Amino acid sequence: VTQISRRAKYIVCPLDSGAVLTVHLRMTGRLFLAAGQQEADKHTRAILDLDSGTSLHFRDPRKFGRMRLMSPEEYAALDARLGPEPLDPTFTAGVLAVRATARKRARIKPLLLDQHFLAGLGNIYADEALFRARLHPLRRAGSLSAEEVERLQRAIVAVLREAIEAEGTTLSDGGYRFGEDQSGGFAERLRVYGRTDQPCLVCGHPIRRLRIASRSSHICPQCQS
Ligand SMILES: [Zn+2]
Repeated sequence: VTQISRRAKYIVCPLDSGAVLTVHLRMTGRLFLAAGQQEADKHTRAILDLDSGTSLHFRDPRKFGRMRLMSPEEYAALDARLGPEPLDPTFTAGVLAVRATARKRARIKPLLLDQHFLAGLGNIYADEALFRARLHPLRRAGSLSAEEVERLQRAIVAVLREAIEAEGTTLSDGGYRFGEDQSGGFAERLRVYGRTDQPCLVCGHPIRRLRIASRSSHICPQCQS
C-alpha cells in the first residue's frame, strides 16, 4: 500500500499487483497504524503487515465493516456507478443542477443519501446541509430553483469541510471513533441533527424529527421550506 484515497464511503488502497483493496468502515470500523507487533484484541478483524515494518489494524466491534480485494475491472465498475465527490473541485452548482434535473421526481433528502447521485454524504451531514441551505428534505429535486441548488451545493461543501476539520462526528453514544481511540469534535457544532425539541439556533422554533425513507431527518419547520 503506497497511497490511500477515498471514493464515496470507501477507503481505497491500490496494490502493486494491480488489485485494489477497498474498506468500508460502516458504523464502528476503524483503521489505525500500529508500530511493531501490536497484538490483536477481540475486535481486531484483520492485520496487514506493511513493508515499512508497521501494520495496519482493522478493528470493528459490531462487524458491519467490509474489506474487499477487487480486480481493477471490478473497482472501475464500482467507481463508474458512484456519483461525484462533493469536495472535488469539479462538483459545482451546475453539476448538481444537471443531476437534480435528471432525478426531478425524487425527494431531495433520500437523493442526497443515494451514493449513485452524490458520493460520500451520510445522514448527519445531509440533515446539516439541508438546514444550512434552508431546504425542506421532502422537496422534489426538480422543484429547486437555480439559487436553491447553489445554496445546497455550498452548504454540502461547507458542512463536509468543517466536519473534516473537526475530525468527524462522535455522538454521545460514542459510535464513531478514529485512530486508536479518538473522538471527533463536530457533534458540538451540529445545528439540527440530534437536537429534537431543542430551539432552532436561527429562529428559536423547536427542531422536529421526521422519518423519511426509513431514516430520521431533523429539521426546523420554520427555516426550511
Ligand atoms: Zn429555525
